[in-house]
Amino acid sequence: METASVDAIAVQQRLTELRQLIQRASYEYYVLDAPTMPDSVYDQLYRELQDLETQYPELITPDSPTQRVGERPASQFTSVRHNIPLYSLENAFNVEEFANWQERWRRVAPTVAEFEYVCELKIDGSALALTYENGVLVRGATRGDGITGEEITQNVRTIRSIPLRLSLDNPPPVVEVRGEAFLPLQSFEQINQEREKAGEALFANPRNAAAGTLRQLDSRIVAKRKLDFFAYTLHIPGVVGEGEVEPDNPSALAVTSQWESLELLRQMGFRVNPNRQLCRSLAEVQEYYDRWSTARLDLPYMTDGVVAKLNSLALQERLGFTQKFPRWAVALKYPAEESPTIVENISVNVGRTGAITPVAELRPVQLAGTTVSRATLHNSDRIAELDIHLLDTVIVRKAGEIIPEVVRVLPELRPAEARRYTMPTHCPECNEPVFKPEDEAVTRCINISCPAILRGALIHWASRDALDINGLGEKWVQQFVERGLLHTVADLYDLTAEQLMTIDRMGKKSAENLIKAIAHSKTQPWSRVLYGLGIRHVGSVNAQVLTQQFTDVDQLAAATPEAIASVYGIGDEIARSVHQWFHLEANQTLIERLRQAGVQLAGEAPPPVNTTSPLAGKTFVVTGTLPTLKRDEAKSLIQAAGGKVTDSVSKKTDYLVVGEDAGSKLDKAIALGITQLSEDQLLALLRESKQD
Ligand code: NAD
Repeated sequence: METASVDAIAVQQRLTELRQLIQRASYEYYVLDAPTMPDSVYDQLYRELQDLETQYPELITPDSPTQRVGERPASQFTSVRHNIPLYSLENAFNVEEFANWQERWRRVAPTVAEFEYVCELKIDGSALALTYENGVLVRGATRGDGITGEEITQNVRTIRSIPLRLSLDNPPPVVEVRGEAFLPLQSFEQINQEREKAGEALFANPRNAAAGTLRQLDSRIVAKRKLDFFAYTLHIPGVVGEGEVEPDNPSALAVTSQWESLELLRQMGFRVNPNRQLCRSLAEVQEYYDRWSTARLDLPYMTDGVVAKLNSLALQERLGFTQKFPRWAVALKYPAEESPTIVENISVNVGRTGAITPVAELRPVQLAGTTVSRATLHNSDRIAELDIHLLDTVIVRKAGEIIPEVVRVLPELRPAEARRYTMPTHCPECNEPVFKPEDEAVTRCINISCPAILRGALIHWASRDALDINGLGEKWVQQFVERGLLHTVADLYDLTAEQLMTIDRMGKKSAENLIKAIAHSKTQPWSRVLYGLGIRHVGSVNAQVLTQQFTDVDQLAAATPEAIASVYGIGDEIARSVHQWFHLEANQTLIERLRQAGVQLAGEAPPPVNTTSPLAGKTFVVTGTLPTLKRDEAKSLIQAAGGKVTDSVSKKTDYLVVGEDAGSKLDKAIALGITQLSEDQLLALLRESKQD
């Protein structure tokens, strides 16, 4: 009994808290057009409130944000009552939720064999209701709270894609049109640039900018802002949108479906979004949703999902509205790449360079289709900048292939027991004091025998692009280091199968195979060895570039930083780092021991880099399976012709070489408008470079 009442108090407290947070956010969003909370956080809090209210319906209050749309209109404009409510849309965050939604209506309309939907893009702008009398625009209004909006006719008249007069020969006495006013991305950016120059607060997104613009008191400012409009709903009393057409009104305008409405709107002179589609099954809706999840990124305006509407107007009328939504439409939102969650702990990770990286351990959260439970916090400066406390609610982001990161803290959700975090003063692995240079953000363990650093160095040495030692995984490395079998990577070449067999669960066969794999690594080329040494800033691409110039280790070790930096594609920082590395006595000893072990420290010089080739200085990414070339071969050819090959697509990528089964890299390249090359096109470019 006691627990039940404690629970009830907790639920009531959370409900009150959620309502207050959502109400404040709604006010900032709808009335001030200046949200302080990200939409994904709002959506999540809103869902939590909805779920709690479903569980405890007796605790619903009439003023709960779930019971009404938007906010009351602000007072500076005259209020207008909408003839038909102008509500929000129910959200579905994936196609399964959409299927559930459809099932609900199947019960209401069991005789309908297959629902037909019009799929439209969900434009991220602000809804407008326009009234035409005898074909002339007489009123424009905002959505407001769905029942009452604000009269903003003067401002609406400045939008060029809204006809002031309908192009109809015999216009009906009243026509109501609804649609979305929005700011094209280019205008949005321009407005924000101007606001920044003028020292004004920036708009958070094009939607708030559009809403804010529409509610400007000075319509000259509105006219300058280049708002645009897509029409999506048509209502002609007695003709369209009232189910059956009245028998005594056999108008040529009589349409019976949303699809026909859109066509008629176009004929009347409105802009109607061309990317609409009639879908006759869930699978078609899914296909539309999937296709636009990436294609939308190329549009000159912002969208945040798609809207599926039942096509039949008669069915729409039968289903009607709830307090907040039409029952015949649903918004299928795209999954957020940002989401709120709670920092349950902060741990530190010691990397192979000794860098001590704080990592937030998060309450698991779904982000862009994957579960995220850890996010890097980079370093102590970043922690201070974020002002992150243990138990804080934070926003985490995972965009594309990037590792999840904490974007910001929501201090308004900080619980009383939250505690500030301080970085450790001693390395959690070797217990030696850590060190943070004044001018660097990173805290480091500088004990070269720190087991974490040694483990990292060994794992890197054995990795696929380095010495590729099959079977030398993290688990074994950990044990070999613990048992004192390895103190540097050179010790690997002194190991015997007998020694390995003293390790728990290491059988004879595995021990022999591992010894063989280690021996085989001695045949790996010099460029991989250089990469395997793990010198700061020397990734596998830089290692190849360097070994093309310095064909043996002694040349590289003797080179001045200037000589290293003179290599095409190598900057001063890399050059300094390489030079310093070879200067350390411990590293010189390591090289000697590797030489004695028979590891390749020299190699054939490949042809000189051709700097006038069309590939010179260009950055390539290779993805998918190419018809004839292996990926590594393609990489080497590109590099030999002066191109650079990186692993991930970014704005700096010049070309994406695409093979079969290309995945997210291709999507990203399309989104960024990066030129794609087939293997044939790449080979043609390479031939061109030879002719130069
Ligand atoms: P909504 O934006 O999710 O959906 C309804 C709106 O979609 C319509 O009013 C219309 O303007 C628009 N729309 C665009 N294209 C359309 C089309 N083709 N057909 C029909 N409608 C179309 O709902 P809402 O009630 O306007 O806003 C709720 C959302 O606003 C929340 O999910 C949240 O993301 C955001 N919000 C954020 C905060 C915050 O603090 N960040 C506060 C309040 C609301």
